[in-house]
Amino acid sequence: MRSILELKNINYSYHTPEGETPALSGISFALAPGEFAAVVGPSGCGKSTLLSLIAGLMTPDSGEITLNGKPLTENSSNIGYMLQHDHLFEWRTVYRNILLGAEINRTLNAETKKRASELLEQYGLKQFARSKPSQLSGGMRQRAALIRTLLLEPELLLLDEPFSALDYQTRLTVSDDIGQIIRRSGKTALLVTHDLSEAVSLADRVIILSERPASVLRIVPVSFALENDTPLNRRNAPEFKTYFNQIWKELNHDE
Ligand code: ADP
Repeated sequence: MRSILELKNINYSYHTPEGETPALSGISFALAPGEFAAVVGPSGCGKSTLLSLIAGLMTPDSGEITLNGKPLTENSSNIGYMLQHDHLFEWRTVYRNILLGAEINRTLNAETKKRASELLEQYGLKQFARSKPSQLSGGMRQRAALIRTLLLEPELLLLDEPFSALDYQTRLTVSDDIGQIIRRSGKTALLVTHDLSEAVSLADRVIILSERPASVLRIVPVSFALENDTPLNRRNAPEFKTYFNQIWKELNHDE
């Protein structure tokens, strides 16, 4: 099947005056269109490094990353981000925040404005369009940040610990909400998280990384026999514990 994103034998080391720190070693995997994958691994193993390489912020020492079959360097495909902090600007209304990416990209026109209004309505934020971000709950802020990203029609969404700034209870509902929005949007997504439960509740496949320098220990396909397959419903399903334990064992076996 066609891949949206493909990593082939990626190696990366940091070079500092103190010496060389190998961060990634021989990482290979591919994402199919519409797939939601999660990357888990011990703290400091190289997860953020991996995302920075996929985002094109850094270049691998060796190996190749392709997006829609083309090397990242010659690619004009757009990548969307969702980060721990929503980076909404307090001096702008929710609506104007959502248009910010389009303004920066110079794609702001009547069509994008119309789509912004539609997305606000579709995702229940219409009545907050003229509010300031501080008037929104943490969950609604993350929704607004996601809408801002979706407005740019990214082909790939990179999610870097997007829920880790939220308290546990909020985190469950917000990840359920955001997970469902991403599913409905049909976007291909790659989530980096240190939270195994989050990975199992959201992803189609969990990519398990080893201690630094990170290599792929195993890729676990995740599927639930649920009529309404949502992140919250997954957490209550019998398969959840099985997947959690399998991934936990794989990570701790490595230690
Ligand atoms: P993770 O996201 O899994 O916690 P990172 O990708 O942030 O891990 O870091 C992987 C390793 O690379 C860590 O050991 C870290 O100390 C090292 N590292 C990260 N950034 C730099 C840098 N700019 N310079 C040198 N070493 C770095």
